[in-house]
Amino acid sequence: MTQKIIFCDFDGTVTEKDNIVAIMEAFAPGGWQPIVNDILNEKVSIREGVGKLFSRISSDKKDEIIEFVQTRSKIREGFHEFIDFTKKENIPLYIVSGGIDFFVHPMLKDKVNPEQIICNHSDFSGEQIKITWPNKCDQYCKNDCGCCKPSFIRKTDPQFSGFQKIVIGDSITDLQASKLADVVFARDYLIEKCKENQIPYTPFETFFDVIHALEKEEVRS
Ligand code: MG
Ligand code: ZN
Repeated sequence: MTQKIIFCDFDGTVTEKDNIVAIMEAFAPGGWQPIVNDILNEKVSIREGVGKLFSRISSDKKDEIIEFVQTRSKIREGFHEFIDFTKKENIPLYIVSGGIDFFVHPMLKDKVNPEQIICNHSDFSGEQIKITWPNKCDQYCKNDCGCCKPSFIRKTDPQFSGFQKIVIGDSITDLQASKLADVVFARDYLIEKCKENQIPYTPFETFFDVIHALEKEEVRS
C-alpha cells in the first residue's frame, strides 16, 4: 500500500463552521464587513485582510474569544476516530489552517500535537491583536495567503517524497493545495471549485466517510 500523508483544513472541515467571521460579528466594532468583502472579492490578500480584521479587536479580549470559539464550534463527527486511524496506520497528519493559533490550538488540545498544527500566530503584547505569519507563501505562490497551504505541502515534499498526498477541505483556500494533491476529500464550496477546475475529488460529510474511503481505497484520483 502506498504511504500516505494527510493535510487537513481546520475551519469548516474539522469544525462544522467557520470561526473568523463569527469572531468579528461577536467582538469587532462595526466596519469589518467591507474588509471581509474585499477579501472575498480578492481586492486585498487573505493575509492583509485577516491582519486588518483582527487589528480591530483589543488584545484583552483574548480569553473571551477562546471561550467563544470553544462554546460555539462543534468538531465534525468522526474526527477523533480519524485521529486514531491515522495513528494506527502511521499516516503523518497535518492540520493546515488559515485560522489563528490562540483559538485553533485549544480546540485540538489532547488530540493533535502542536507540531502538527500549521496556522497563523498572534501577538497580544500591544493594545490591539496583531497576527504574525510564520507560514507565508514561498517563491512559487504569489497569493499572499497568510498561512500558505501549497507552500507547506512543498516544504514537506523532501521528507515525504513518494507519499500519496491527501488534502481534506471545504473552501476556496483549499483549492491551490488540492491542485498539488493526489487525493482530495471535499465538501461544500470546495466541491464546486474542484468541479470547475476538473480536479477529481471524493465528497465527505463526516470523518467516518474519510476513514471508510481510505480503508477501502475507494478514492478518486
Ligand atoms: Mg475551511
Ligand atoms: Zn500562498
